[in-house]
Amino acid sequence: MSNRYDAIVVGGGHNGLVAGAYLARAGAKAVVLEARHKTGGAATTDAPWPDAPELKVPTLSYVFSHIPHVIREDLNLRIKTLPQGPYYIPFPDGRSYQSGTMDPALEAAEISKFSKKDAANMGPFMEWLGHLGGAMAPLMMAKPPKFGSRHPGDLLDQMKFLWSMRGLDNRTISDLTRIMSMSAADLLDEWFESDQVKVPFVIDGIIGTWAGPREPGTAFVMAHHAVGDTGGGAMSNEYGIPEGGMGAVADAIRDSAMKFGCEIRTHSRVEKILTVNGRTRGVVLTGGEEVLAPVVVTAANPKITFLEQLDASELPEQFVSDIKRFKVRSGVVKINVALSELPRFTADPDGDIDFTGGIELGHSVDYIERAFIDAREGHGAVRPFSDGEIPTQVDHTLAPEGIHIMSMFTQWVPHTWSDEQPQAELDAYADRVIDEYDQLAPGFKASVIHRQVIGPYEMEKEWGLTGGNIFLGEVSLDQLFHMRPAPGYADWRTPIKGLYQCSNGTHGVGGVCGIPAYNAVREVLKDHRRGRWGKPAGE
Ligand SMILES: Cc1cc2nc3c(=O)[nH]c(=O)nc-3n(C[C@H](O)[C@H](O)[C@H](O)COP(=O)(O)OP(=O)(O)OC[C@H]3O[C@@H](n4cnc5c(N)ncnc54)[C@H](O)[C@@H]3O)c2cc1C
Repeated sequence: MSNRYDAIVVGGGHNGLVAGAYLARAGAKAVVLEARHKTGGAATTDAPWPDAPELKVPTLSYVFSHIPHVIREDLNLRIKTLPQGPYYIPFPDGRSYQSGTMDPALEAAEISKFSKKDAANMGPFMEWLGHLGGAMAPLMMAKPPKFGSRHPGDLLDQMKFLWSMRGLDNRTISDLTRIMSMSAADLLDEWFESDQVKVPFVIDGIIGTWAGPREPGTAFVMAHHAVGDTGGGAMSNEYGIPEGGMGAVADAIRDSAMKFGCEIRTHSRVEKILTVNGRTRGVVLTGGEEVLAPVVVTAANPKITFLEQLDASELPEQFVSDIKRFKVRSGVVKINVALSELPRFTADPDGDIDFTGGIELGHSVDYIERAFIDAREGHGAVRPFSDGEIPTQVDHTLAPEGIHIMSMFTQWVPHTWSDEQPQAELDAYADRVIDEYDQLAPGFKASVIHRQVIGPYEMEKEWGLTGGNIFLGEVSLDQLFHMRPAPGYADWRTPIKGLYQCSNGTHGVGGVCGIPAYNAVREVLKDHRRGRWGKPAGE
């Protein structure tokens, strides 16, 4: 019968697609069930303006960085990335700063505009950060042990984990411990004296967080950006512009899954996960269709899976309360615009500026902190932070010549806007983002010919990003590694036998990376050696 499979994947975001591909590659008869009309989840490219169907935008996610080489090789992913430029930060005093040029002499000249001492410190800082990123990279692929458990298998896992850490010296462990508890601002104060030089690092520390740069933990988020890989094999912090937007990345994974024989079904919202005696037996779709399998891998937010698709009585009480308190706050608003011309910044009126790496609205650490405080106080930032980017400078697939697409990742609005969206306030907030750019690049506002504004409410309702959180759960120390999404269940297993989890709400989170899915399927295959999938429970 066609509705019986070896494995079902709930949710066709990029992680669900990676899981489907790996399951099919391992010989499973697998299906991905996606609620929306298309796969990709937050990794999507769309044409949002009906009167201009030739214009495409990276609707939500926009920069490629984290899919490890092993996944790209295993799944034979054809992903084309284009080189991404440095951060461009124009300041109201008429100066500007380009950070991350990859040219040491240019980088030193740029930093020296603000501080010669900081120029000298940059090399050692980057080396230090790279070292910490290198130390963290293996943890992304590792199974978090169940610390404190005395079960023999868990004790073995704890010993293996400690053994895997044997290469780290005392200083590296101390530094890792410090960045986990420090704020990005405090850490940067130890290295740099110039506010301008700190800004790009502060930005890395607050992307997607419900925390300003002075909040503890943001130093870790900043260092997390030093873990990446665009294809060289070694983990590095090279970022790239995905040609065709991030939707092209998701499409490449979908095509790979299909080539391995995985079935992909869109318009297939899962209402319930079926269980019998603590084992999963499949799912029920909206409309009542049952799809059966002995293995279900959920790639949806943990709150959707455990609080909506299962009954609390089927789960341990402690686990349910852990998932309830799993934090998903967000103040991100994505704004995409089409421009009739490239912006001309007062700071560089004749400059041939590369806008692919980010045009930052972040004049100082205090500017960014204030934007967060505004949202925490209950209103959209008066002067928002924005990571703008114009991919069409290098990606000619998104718009015809002469028109440019600008993606603006902005923060913050109150996290409560995921429950109720004050439309007029959201629009006024978007106006302020555009006004801020206009002050730095007069004429910018007049060049906007189309605009799309997506707040936390729409992210939750349309994309299943609960709370509007871009990482399917806040990336904060209290919900990482062995605690993501709940203590005792960070090994991608769940209290229900046969039910696994693989969204970014689980360990391995890191943007569009596929790591949670890679890890989860590895555990599924351990539990179902040699493709012995069995029958759905209850048969
Ligand atoms: C505005 C924004 C900007 C971002 N920018 C970047 C960036 O530049 N670079 C980067 O690497 N990352 C970025 N991210 C983060 C990254 O895109 C996400 O963390 C990642 O795509 C999440 O992937 P996922 O597969 O775990 O979940 P999702 O992409 O959320 O996929 C989950 C899927 O499950 C589906 N689903 C939910 N409920 C059900 C159900 N009941 N039945 C069936 N299907 C269901 C959803 O429709 C969705 O397709 C950004 C995210 C956002 C929102």
